[in-house]
Amino acid sequence: MKAHGYAAFDTKSALRPWSFERREPGARDVVVEIAYCGVCHSDIHQVRDEWGGSIYPMVPGHEIVGRVTAVGGEVTRFKAGDLAGIGVMVNSCRTCANCKADLENYCMKGFVGTYNAKDYDGAITYGGYANNIVCDMRYVHTISPKFGDKLAGVAPLLCAGITTYSPMRHWGAGPGKKVGVVGLGGLGHMGLKFAHSFGAHTIQFTTSESKIADAKRLGADEVVISKDANAMAKHAASFDFILDTVSAPHDLNAYLRLLKLDATLALVGLSERPLPVEPFALTGYRVALAGSNIGGMKETQEMLDYCADHGIVSDIELTSIDRLGEAYERVLKSDVKYRFVIDMATLG
Ligand code: NAP
Ligand code: ZN
Ligand code: ZN
Repeated sequence: MKAHGYAAFDTKSALRPWSFERREPGARDVVVEIAYCGVCHSDIHQVRDEWGGSIYPMVPGHEIVGRVTAVGGEVTRFKAGDLAGIGVMVNSCRTCANCKADLENYCMKGFVGTYNAKDYDGAITYGGYANNIVCDMRYVHTISPKFGDKLAGVAPLLCAGITTYSPMRHWGAGPGKKVGVVGLGGLGHMGLKFAHSFGAHTIQFTTSESKIADAKRLGADEVVISKDANAMAKHAASFDFILDTVSAPHDLNAYLRLLKLDATLALVGLSERPLPVEPFALTGYRVALAGSNIGGMKETQEMLDYCADHGIVSDIELTSIDRLGEAYERVLKSDVKYRFVIDMATLG
């Protein structure tokens, strides 16, 4: 089926309009007309081939919301006119132990990314910077009408939301816990909202003094400027859990030293370069360094429903698709409040 959107053709030039083919919808497929798509820092890493193996032309975008326009004969959960969301995966093996445990995000065959990936049949996947998408119903989420006119702010939940919700739940952010969030960008501001909403005493770490007031508005009990060694030292060995969302090389040891006995620092930020760890920063209080990758389909739906019930959406800057270059530049300068979302009506 015909689709059009914006694609990257190499690591350097600006994304530009591109018409392409998606598969003809099958019996299990849902066709979604895309209303909004978030701009994740992962889009920029992949457009620039910072993780290696990028496939061009690339249509990025894995924070997708829109309306269902057609469904295949076996689809019962969706009908034309319904709201729907698609995140970071569009397929997984469905049979491995992790898929069976609702952890398709850790599929042992490797889940199929929404873009810049090869599906198991060899077809290249194209993402949400486009007018439509075809997706197997198993990888499509229900979007509650409770979100009302906040649909643009729902799009980032599909990646930034679940990527922070899942580790906050896994490591038990909640009442009586001291939780830190490192980096106040797209992921960070959602992590902050969730930790606060779950009832944890929440501390935001940022390199940007200009974000202090916003961090407090978004739910931080305290804000620490991470470049201030004295301010950091005051929190030594005191955290139950820290979620690190930083997109670039930075010093992990400074945060490992803030963990109390047996506490965990979980990394979700995907710096293109290794992050050196000092063994003493781990052994001092038997702390753990961990990682987390988005979330499974079931937990993503749980997160979406939690957000609908608690009035949580992403703080966004709506942008037109022809201004992607400017949006990317501002994300790279840590100057987005706090997620760009493309209004797909501007695709024309
Ligand atoms: P983002 O909006 O650009 O936010 C990153 C934040 O990190 C910035 O706002 C900034 O916060 C801080 N930062 C940036 N450069 C820094 C540096 N050199 N030193 C210290 N702090 C720095 O990016 P995002 O979309 O939230 O994504 C964050 C990372 O998570 C990316 O690497 C992305 O690829 C990755 N990611 C991972 C998953 C997963 O499943 N694991 C899912 C989605 C995204 P301050 O201004 O507050 O310092
Ligand atoms: Zn993402
Ligand atoms: Zn699997």
